[in-house]
Amino acid sequence: MARLLEGKPIAEKIKEGIRQEVELLKNKPVLASIMVGENAGSATYVKSQTKIAQDLGIEYRLQQLSGDTSEAALIEFIQKLNADRSVNGIIIQMPLPAAIDYKKMSQFILPEKDVEGMHPANIGKIVFGKAKILPCTAAAVMELLNASGADLYGREVVIVGHSEIVGKPLSLLLLDKFATVTVAHIGTSKAGKLEEHVRRAEVLIVAVGKAGLIKGEWIKEGAIVIDVGINRVGEKLVGDVEFEAAEKRASAITPVPGGVGPLTVTMLMRNLVEAAKLQQ
Ligand code: NDP
Repeated sequence: MARLLEGKPIAEKIKEGIRQEVELLKNKPVLASIMVGENAGSATYVKSQTKIAQDLGIEYRLQQLSGDTSEAALIEFIQKLNADRSVNGIIIQMPLPAAIDYKKMSQFILPEKDVEGMHPANIGKIVFGKAKILPCTAAAVMELLNASGADLYGREVVIVGHSEIVGKPLSLLLLDKFATVTVAHIGTSKAGKLEEHVRRAEVLIVAVGKAGLIKGEWIKEGAIVIDVGINRVGEKLVGDVEFEAAEKRASAITPVPGGVGPLTVTMLMRNLVEAAKLQQ
């Protein structure tokens, strides 16, 4: 039976380090969180981010804008926050109203205040192994792998999903550890080759958002499995991997919920403190 890779204890350890770093800063770090319009989903995120920020000694400044804010007005607002020296990091809550393009907006955040690590300048630094601010979910996966004790050197790592926030940055971070990285995606599935790639994974990372996509019987004996996916099935939250069958074959596996999730916000706060350090 696989060892459970739970995010919470790892997050608690990292938070301890963050608290110590915050104490060493001249000023309390400030995170500006932009929310456009009302949305129950993002309100829940904001609530949990506020609580964690408070616990870490970080000031969380919620910037509520009306639902009919235009792209031009949002850009102007972001530029004001860029110029505000008391603000160390800026995030834009999702979802945004249909008239606003998130990708376009996020590029107006100064790279040194981009605590989600999604500005092209920050993504580009990953290629050179020089990134100090990493996309939060990719960073969370790297922390879980680190905690699993896996030696990634020369290991067969298969990532399923090639999104900009997870699969693509992770592939670069893992290359830096000298893993042999395969990135599978929708094209792999359509070519009928997903199973064959998953079967040879010594480390498997899945970030798709489709419950049961990865069959338990495909998991290689002794593999390490990181399931990033979150899917609501009836009343339950499940990942992309068939957990019960997979845990019988894997040596370590993340639960959903409770694996990657608890670490993601912690990574956001770590990025904020890193940004504050760079700015001060
Ligand atoms: P995206 O929708 O941006 O990316 C999903 C990826 O999966 C795409 O590369 C897509 O390819 C690929 N894909 C779709 N269908 C298949 C298939 N049948 N076989 C193989 N690949 C496929 O999602 P995100 O990366 O944003 O998120 C992925 C999952 O992770 C979601 O469930 C999300 O909720 C969860 N998540 C969890 C977080 C956490 O903190 N735990 C944080 C962030 C995300 P294409 O685009 O070409 O169709």
